[in-house]
Amino acid sequence: MKKELAETGQLKYLLEKIGGSLDQFLRFEHSDAQSSDKNWKESLNKPVPQKGIGIDAVSKSLSEWVIPYGSPVPNPGFTSFITTGATTASALASAAANIASPQRYMMTAFNFIEELSLDWLAEMFSIPDFKGVYSSGGSVANLVALGGARQYAFEKIGIDPAAEGLTRAVGVYASVQCHHTIQRSCGVLGVGRRAVRPINCDADGRMLMSELKAAIASDKEKGILPMAIVANAGTTDIGAIDPLHEMAEIAKENEIWFHVDGAYGLPGILDERIKDRYKGLELADSIIVDPHKWLGASVGIATTFVKDREILFRAFTQEPANYLEGTVQQQAEPETKIQHSADDFGIPYFDYGVELSAPCRGVVVWAMLQEIGVEGMRARIKKHNDMAAHIYKLAGEHPQLEALNKPELSICCFRFVDKKIEDLDGFNQRLHRRLVRANEYMPSTTKVNGQLGIRPCYVGARHEFEQADGLLQAVLKIGNEMLAEI
Ligand SMILES: *Cc1c(COP(=O)(O)O)cnc(C)c1O
Repeated sequence: MKKELAETGQLKYLLEKIGGSLDQFLRFEHSDAQSSDKNWKESLNKPVPQKGIGIDAVSKSLSEWVIPYGSPVPNPGFTSFITTGATTASALASAAANIASPQRYMMTAFNFIEELSLDWLAEMFSIPDFKGVYSSGGSVANLVALGGARQYAFEKIGIDPAAEGLTRAVGVYASVQCHHTIQRSCGVLGVGRRAVRPINCDADGRMLMSELKAAIASDKEKGILPMAIVANAGTTDIGAIDPLHEMAEIAKENEIWFHVDGAYGLPGILDERIKDRYKGLELADSIIVDPHKWLGASVGIATTFVKDREILFRAFTQEPANYLEGTVQQQAEPETKIQHSADDFGIPYFDYGVELSAPCRGVVVWAMLQEIGVEGMRARIKKHNDMAAHIYKLAGEHPQLEALNKPELSICCFRFVDKKIEDLDGFNQRLHRRLVRANEYMPSTTKVNGQLGIRPCYVGARHEFEQADGLLQAVLKIGNEMLAEI
């Protein structure tokens, strides 16, 4: 039975072969892949190999032509969108799961940790009554949550929508600032993207309650079935938190499912200075969070939390299949002592969402929390919020800078201003391109109340406080160079 290590995919072998180039990559001493060396594309662009080159040659090309030309995302200066590199604990646990438990089902230590880590997250986020299920990202997590909402809305009128399909038009109430995966989820769930009613926000990006109430009343009058109220706990653009408590009350009065999209912003609840802003969270029916954003997990890890996991079971259960029944027991009979991990599937996560085969993700969250604890996470989140607050303060004080949002979380949009500039949006867009090409500070841009801003979003374990000052200095330097060219 003994095989060459190379054939069984052992980590030791792989790390020996590519560990050095990964290490080098993470020192970020190279410049950006796109600008530094054009040869990598030529080296990689080969026809499908008919004869294999062997594992040694594969690891050599990985080290030479792939890893060094990887993504800027894990770079400490990268603050675009809401994404960052995996922490060491996270990368380690992903690799462990990859090798030691390729599937999350079956009653293994990994399956056990899947549930334990979900309970840890629920406790850490002050929602201890919620049960979770992991999926690949906020997109799928929102889909799963809204699948629960669809089930709830139609069961109330005596229909099982998952089994029988839809019989009525529905309304979903989300702010104009909601992430576009809400619309896509509604498309996939068959209720239609147009079912999402775009509710306006105030100047701080928070949903207006008067408009929410009016939209629900208007749909009810037309015989449209209200399906879900969707709140943002941290909008993607500026990190605004909707008035959760008021929304929860409106949802309760109208018996509508209340969903909170905290893909980015849920971990903000750890910052006790702003914990009040999450009041009402515990009244939600579903909540999502992306450990692969602010917690620093490797990409591909999101969580949907619900009060009642049985509703997800009814929304997403697979019909029985011959190849499954009997091979493994779903639940071991109480009198049979479990002899083998294949005697029990463990918790049937595959019936609570849309994935059957799926990696063990809980072990990643478990490893990260073991490493730094809730206190370590809290310290990191507070540091990131402080960085955004620092930018807000300095931009307010400097005559050539202007902040565009007062940060609730770790995003502060700002722009370069000077009376000589006629087109501020165009100027800042060009400034941003120059800034990013220098490869040290890589924020993105967005529009805040119609004005283009440079948008750093601090979520990475490698984002250090000094970078907030550094970014402002870099913007001022480039801005003044551009002014001199006018
Ligand atoms: C990022 C984000 C999503 C989508 O999450 P992915 O993990 O990228 O699929 C959904 N909602 C909000 C508020 C987000 O910030």
